[in-house]
Amino acid sequence: MRYTSTRNNKTDVTAAKAIATGISPEGGLYVPTELPILSATAIQELVPLSYKERAARILSRFLGDFTVEETTACCEAAYGDRFDTPAVAPVVDLGEGRHILELWHGPTCAFKDMALQILPHLMRVSVQKTAPGQKIVILVATSGDTGKAALEGFRDAPDTRILVFYPVDGVSEMQRLQMITQEGDNVGVCAIRGNFDDAQTGVKALFTDDEVISALEKNGMRFSSANSINWGRLVPQIVYYISSYCDLLAAGSIAMGDPINVVVPTGNFGNILAAYYAKRMGLPIAKLICASNKNRVLTDFFETGVYDCNRPFYTTTSPSMDILVSSNLERLLYHLSGENSEEIAGLMAGLKNDRKYAVSPAVKAQMDNLFAAGSADDALVEETIQQVYTDKGYLLDTHTAVAVAVYEDYRAKTGDTTPTVIASTANPYKFTPSILAALGGAEAEKPYDQMQELQAKTGWAIPAPLAGLNVKEIRFTDVCGNDTASMQQTVYRLLDMA
Ligand SMILES: *Cc1c(COP(=O)(O)O)cnc(C)c1O
Repeated sequence: MRYTSTRNNKTDVTAAKAIATGISPEGGLYVPTELPILSATAIQELVPLSYKERAARILSRFLGDFTVEETTACCEAAYGDRFDTPAVAPVVDLGEGRHILELWHGPTCAFKDMALQILPHLMRVSVQKTAPGQKIVILVATSGDTGKAALEGFRDAPDTRILVFYPVDGVSEMQRLQMITQEGDNVGVCAIRGNFDDAQTGVKALFTDDEVISALEKNGMRFSSANSINWGRLVPQIVYYISSYCDLLAAGSIAMGDPINVVVPTGNFGNILAAYYAKRMGLPIAKLICASNKNRVLTDFFETGVYDCNRPFYTTTSPSMDILVSSNLERLLYHLSGENSEEIAGLMAGLKNDRKYAVSPAVKAQMDNLFAAGSADDALVEETIQQVYTDKGYLLDTHTAVAVAVYEDYRAKTGDTTPTVIASTANPYKFTPSILAALGGAEAEKPYDQMQELQAKTGWAIPAPLAGLNVKEIRFTDVCGNDTASMQQTVYRLLDMA
């Protein structure tokens, strides 16, 4: 299994190289040159296996230069006992063909754990193969969920340091508490004055600063990235779509070969792209349904074939989907263009220069065939949370509620009642104030008291990682400026290089 680049299809690298470096030198994203095919027999063989065993079978097909033992050890370390259910990603039946795939049973209660629990292990093996002896410094700018999930994934990973910058006023109180109480001997967290874009710009500047790079090199270290353009974050996400199909087979909800639809609350397009890869591998997926919040750049794109970021940016109750540039879309377009990297380089130049591009009629025709898309605003999200809780006793988080709302609209409009898997991306307690608002309003003011209130109201248990937060030791209280010099100083200090 080899990998090439979306912007230069003469590139030819191994899986280890793609994961260790993250992005191709000319700025393209690594993609597999062919996809492993899953026969009905191969799917059937996965049914009796545990999640980590299913993961090992599937990932082995993608990680050509890993030994089976290496891949199995990565899956064991990630999915062995770090999730609060042995099912890892259980499927809940909401009736009449609606199935919720719960992706938030990991240590930070959001779906980012599904990939960020295994990425550190994949990266360690990849670095051993491609740059032995080097220590990796993971640098993250976060608006909340990714930072915490990356810290939890990389904490105490051998030969690795992880540093996270977050905007001082740009994350929720819960998210801040989660990060500043982070345990582990190799972690560092610092707030920066400014917003998420400032944090992101500062981190990007450090990544490419020759002085910083050579200072690190003298200490046997080099930067790497844990963000969702790394193939090592995408490939583990293919597993849970295949796993959910196996669970539906085991439950008798479908028979082998029956089609399913998949609905994904989408931001950077990583999660739904993984479902597309599962389909290409032969998993019987009929429609891929892309759900957006009020930032409906993707909905408009699937309707018109024009991707246009020249529009207002809205802050919504589903913040992890507040995105205008969905980076992983580039991979989909590469495949739909017939692996035409010149065409993709052209589109991405358009995005950079004009913040917009239009795909060819041939690509648009395939998009129509594969995808449906829709959007839901905050009011509809509230109504959906309330209604699903009243009707089914099931508590949706705000992101999952976007997906459910878009799905119900799709189903009503098309009459398509194909059994459907809806990706659920966060535990509702991560967004307690919005959930309480949907259920009639909050009495308590403090975030911690609000969780107690939600628990008393619904009987849903507060997840353990959030329950203990208010008594954990606060470790990281620093705030630094958003200029490169301040951030560089912070990095040196956190790496003990100052
Ligand atoms: C990151 C995230 C998303 C968006 O996923 P993408 O892969 O970026 O499309 C949706 N919901 C939650 C809760 C997230 O944390």
